[in-house]
Amino acid sequence: MTTELEIGLYIFMLAGFLGYHIITRVPPLLHTPLMSATNAIAGISLVGSLVVAGANYGPLSTILGFIAVTCSTTNVVGGFLITDRMLSMFKRSEEQTAQPRRVPFGRVLVTLIVLGAGVIAFLYWFQQRGEGPEWMVHPRLHAETLKYSYILSSALFILGLKGLSSPKYARKGMQAAAFGMLMAVVGTLFHPEIVTYKWIILGIIIGSIVGGTMGLRIPMTAVPQRTALSHSLGALAACLVGISEYFRHHGVLSAVVMIPLGFEVVVGGLTFTGSLMAAAKLQELLPGHPITYKGQNLLNFSLLAVIVGSLIYLVIAPATPVVFQVMVALSFVFGLLLVIPIGAADMPVVIALLNSYGGLADASMGFVLMNKIQIITGSLDGTSGFLLSLLMCRAMNRSVVNVLFGAFGKVEKEKSDQGAEAKGSVRSIFPEEVTALLEDVRSVIIVPGYGMAVAQAQHGVAELAKLLMQRGINVKYAIHPVAGRMPGHMNVLLAEANVPYDQLYGMEQINPYFPEADIALVVGANDVTNPAAKNDRNSPLYGMPILEVDRAKSIIVLKRSLRPGFAGVDNDLYYDPKCMMLFGDAKESLNKLFAALKS
Ligand code: NAP
Repeated sequence: MTTELEIGLYIFMLAGFLGYHIITRVPPLLHTPLMSATNAIAGISLVGSLVVAGANYGPLSTILGFIAVTCSTTNVVGGFLITDRMLSMFKRSEEQTAQPRRVPFGRVLVTLIVLGAGVIAFLYWFQQRGEGPEWMVHPRLHAETLKYSYILSSALFILGLKGLSSPKYARKGMQAAAFGMLMAVVGTLFHPEIVTYKWIILGIIIGSIVGGTMGLRIPMTAVPQRTALSHSLGALAACLVGISEYFRHHGVLSAVVMIPLGFEVVVGGLTFTGSLMAAAKLQELLPGHPITYKGQNLLNFSLLAVIVGSLIYLVIAPATPVVFQVMVALSFVFGLLLVIPIGAADMPVVIALLNSYGGLADASMGFVLMNKIQIITGSLDGTSGFLLSLLMCRAMNRSVVNVLFGAFGKVEKEKSDQGAEAKGSVRSIFPEEVTALLEDVRSVIIVPGYGMAVAQAQHGVAELAKLLMQRGINVKYAIHPVAGRMPGHMNVLLAEANVPYDQLYGMEQINPYFPEADIALVVGANDVTNPAAKNDRNSPLYGMPILEVDRAKSIIVLKRSLRPGFAGVDNDLYYDPKCMMLFGDAKESLNKLFAALKS
């Protein structure tokens, strides 16, 4: 006879294949929304958390469940809101209207909280009266409500992700997925083991306020760190539910439960602290450069070996809480140590990988609670994160191992200074001279990079492009898949500045146009334009596909100095006789250019 475990494994595998099929069809344009969408869907850990917070499993479980509900709600509300915000910005030229749609912050938030709290308050009220209507207390109805709401929700999640294969349907797809989440949550409220809604209501209200504020207020430039923070919350929820399950059963668990439970707390724990580190590095609360020391990899591998050893011990002798506690504590430490040696610009790969770990923690929670919707979404999430990290590595011509253990981006300052001296001089230029050059051109390709995000210059770029187009100049945007600090980061920022997505060209599409371009205007991009990636076998960037800016008739670079980009490598482009440097903050330079052109 087929056991629940076997069915779970089949579901996990099939959902993974389906996820692969759907996610490979998501265009690079929508990779950032994809990350936040899977993040929101991963908030399905909410269904497990609701049961733990509401059931009579003891005070420890209630506290852990309450925290887990708060974290998961933050993920769900924040994730769906920011995804919708991003997707509402993607428009084609003909869809562009003068005013971007403003999200009515207060109204959306209050409606969400009132809706969620209303349903729970209704159930709570009946429960307090000690009598429920027939339909509520009927155990068969509980089971049926749960079963069908989960089946429908799974279908809506898959449809939601499928919608991301085109900007046209992406928003509707995500709205369907959000509805699926609502159904799963409402269905879970009928779970027969829930005896109180007190902590559930409180957790949902706090989570909605925090998630809603993050989802609606966070600037688009801070999307990478928000995503990392959200992953950490989702992982913490999975970890806490696992801890609650272990202590609730006093460690008396069969191997079939102990294995996924151990996996859930270990992966959840390391994803929690690892993602927190990633968010702190991206927010520049911690130094962005890789922190390395002697014997680092040896220490990390030894720690991992102790964690795996503890898990094996627990499978053999599960009722040893001390070993369990040590394993959990070491997992938290391991997450921190894993991210320390990785540079800030590699954080997107780390975030995507941690996203996939978070998915696995969710799926493990599904195995522990035998909850199939968590197995499905965990598997989808795991596949999406893993695929995105592979795509990013391919775009940089690096391996995942190199990203995780290579301490890439450790700036060797002296080396790069020596290199700069050897390469000759650079030509600097003033805004008025750029204006004069722009008078006589027919085509311009704009190349945005991380510096545009730092300077928040996307609106300035869009204004300048509009002005040039009004003068009959052909303007195109060249988008490198790993420009900025998230896959698709530039697409989101430019969409925010109302740039229609049909003006954005991917690397393979735009490279043939560079020789025809009169000017390539590089705004805060560096590594993704470095010709050393094609020409210099000794460069750490060698082999990375780049935007072939050096083939344009002339090049103007907007950046503050000759400092290298994330890879810590001097850019040969700046010594090209065709290249002119407009030094200064990109936003200020663009303002000056715009004013000079207007006058
Ligand atoms: P980059 O190579 O990191 O260079 C960004 C440049 O922006 C810097 O050289 C900096 O020069 C300039 N800058 C910073 N603040 C500025 C400001 N306020 N105004 C004007 N310029 C400013 O960026 P990139 O070309 O976008 O390349 C991205 C890097 O991240 C690549 O190495 C890529 O491999 C890595 N990465 C990206 C992803 C992803 O998903 N996007 C994933 C993994 C790794 P100054 O200091 O002189 O101004």
